[in-house]
Amino acid sequence: MKKQNRIVLDSPKVKDGNKLYCQFNCSGKVSKYFKEDTFYMKVNANIESVPKSILAIPALSNICPVAWLAGADIYVEEIDGEFLKALNTIKKSFQVLYPKHSFKGDIKYKRIKRNKRYGKKKSGLFFSGGVDSITAYIRKQNHKPYLLTVRGADIPLSEKEGWRKVRDNNKQFAKENGLYPLFIESNFRSFLNESNLNKDYSKNGLKGWWGGIQHGLGTVGLSAPLAFIKGMNRIYFASSPGIISVDNYLNFTPEPEGSHPSIENNLKWGVTKVTLESMDLSRLDKIGVIAKYIKKKNPNLQLRVCWESKKGSNCGKCEKCTRTMASLLSEGVNPSNHGFRMNKNLLQSMKKNKKLFTRLNENKESQWIMIQYKLRKNLPDKDSKYYNFCQWILKTNFRHKS
Ligand SMILES: [Zn+2]
Repeated sequence: MKKQNRIVLDSPKVKDGNKLYCQFNCSGKVSKYFKEDTFYMKVNANIESVPKSILAIPALSNICPVAWLAGADIYVEEIDGEFLKALNTIKKSFQVLYPKHSFKGDIKYKRIKRNKRYGKKKSGLFFSGGVDSITAYIRKQNHKPYLLTVRGADIPLSEKEGWRKVRDNNKQFAKENGLYPLFIESNFRSFLNESNLNKDYSKNGLKGWWGGIQHGLGTVGLSAPLAFIKGMNRIYFASSPGIISVDNYLNFTPEPEGSHPSIENNLKWGVTKVTLESMDLSRLDKIGVIAKYIKKKNPNLQLRVCWESKKGSNCGKCEKCTRTMASLLSEGVNPSNHGFRMNKNLLQSMKKNKKLFTRLNENKESQWIMIQYKLRKNLPDKDSKYYNFCQWILKTNFRHKS
């Protein structure tokens, strides 16, 4: 007899006050999409008093989309009522984003719980230290949000040194700004068999499991136990332009992504709601906001924008690093003071790998063209180590299609 395609979640358990374990059993087709049978999370707060229906949210936020695409039902004992509604809405949103895939599978529960008595009008902001989250912080600074940083997303759990750097940097940022940093370490990415998921579903408009499905819902869901303990009734998640933003809607064909207003803005549980922040700004607008903030308030601000380097710092030579450096320069800010360095081999390697800079999507291409326009008015002096770098940018034709 064919095994039933389903996932059964055990009741979540907290150990040592701050470690959360959710064991689950898979059977049937869905099994091949998991590498481990326990979802794990560790935070720097005591979460023993969090109700089980809230403790299940981090695991469910990451397991549900797998079940939906594999058409498997999910069995749980208890579920938060608001979260259940959110999941049903988000499932429909994914179906609209990816009409060529089918999102099936239901949540079967024994009890619905209402979690109402914890909101203290606090907020939380996911904070990686990059352009998006720093801009979101600048705009929400009056709310004094808790800063939430996740280990296990772009920096793998195995990367110790990189994590240490990010953690220290974000601790420092929190301290300077009178904020409280919260750290979440989780196998939420590595417990999945991402390569099997990509093999079966990265097609028909869906570009990769992490970026296309998991990034928004899976990351934000991790904050549920902390939101309960700290009384956060609002979670901010920075939008990633280029992934999705208003100008992306207006000027370019939008590419469906796992971070999308129809996903995060519909996510909620208990009394907590989620907002995708700074949707109205393009990446260059955001760098403009940051440059102003650097000049007025925080001359030592450090940026971490690079995903090429898993070591928690900017590689300083990929297209994204260079674009950010150039864009800071075009705002009259010296990148060397903010997490980048001018490497004497950089220009050489840019010339050699010119294709990396001139075969870009329309969004990045138009950013470079705008940077050129602004740089012309804000060129660094001849004795600046960025002088030749800027000259090269001005001379390069970033428009590869004519
Ligand atoms: Zn880089």
